[in-house]
Amino acid sequence: MTSFPGQWDDGTAADGPEHQVHWYDERTAIIRQSLRTNFEGPFLYLLLGSERALLLDTGTGHTDLRTLVDELLTGRDLELVVAHTHAHGDHVGGDDQFERVVGHSAEEVAAFFGIGDWPGGIGRLDLGERVLDVIPIPGHQGADIAVYDARTRLLLTGDSLYPGRLYVPDWGSYRASVRRLAEFVAAGNPVDWVLGAHIEMPDRPGEDYPMGADVHPGEHPLQLAPQTLTELHEALTAAGPQPRRLVRDHFIVFPR
Ligand SMILES: [Zn+2]
Ligand SMILES: [Zn+2]
Repeated sequence: MTSFPGQWDDGTAADGPEHQVHWYDERTAIIRQSLRTNFEGPFLYLLLGSERALLLDTGTGHTDLRTLVDELLTGRDLELVVAHTHAHGDHVGGDDQFERVVGHSAEEVAAFFGIGDWPGGIGRLDLGERVLDVIPIPGHQGADIAVYDARTRLLLTGDSLYPGRLYVPDWGSYRASVRRLAEFVAAGNPVDWVLGAHIEMPDRPGEDYPMGADVHPGEHPLQLAPQTLTELHEALTAAGPQPRRLVRDHFIVFPR
């Protein structure tokens, strides 16, 4: 059984916990850092194998993430691996709460996941009875990765695809990365849902919240259908080599 919550903590309540935890299945936790602790309200992922657990991103650092993760792992006897979708401050801010963390540069990420040819190669992380594929997708920050979990058919895309403003400082790299990611999926890696690291849109096509908004009434769901990746790939292909703002129902490409 897999599920998503009917609604994430959208910041509209006056108070509440620092994190909202939702178990997508019995070995996959989706953690949302509350918008009340920081307007970024990032989503973090905790994936459990039989030997290791991967914490993907540590949030902005404004919360006690370590205590939460320790609680979630209590009694499981798993080695914790802490890595990141990319190295922006709202995804690595809690790193100092953990003893061992994968480095932030593309070189360190490539070395850890065994990616011989960045960004063309594909890396792996074996959690025990759960092998993750790691696909380099620079363009948003530079050390960006997507994580594909064949077991759940989830594709974790960080800040490179989510329902909101997709900031693109490196247009050429981003276009190439999205193309490679679409090709990876088409090459026999089926996706049930694409899960990114933020929500910045209400559930109305092509609209976004004001920048820095820390209340998100009527949020778009976190999960995106796999067709959304195809749509992004096609939109970028059609847009050509010149950076352009692209507004679609479920994302807004935002060159910087
Ligand atoms: Zn980012
Ligand atoms: Zn971010």
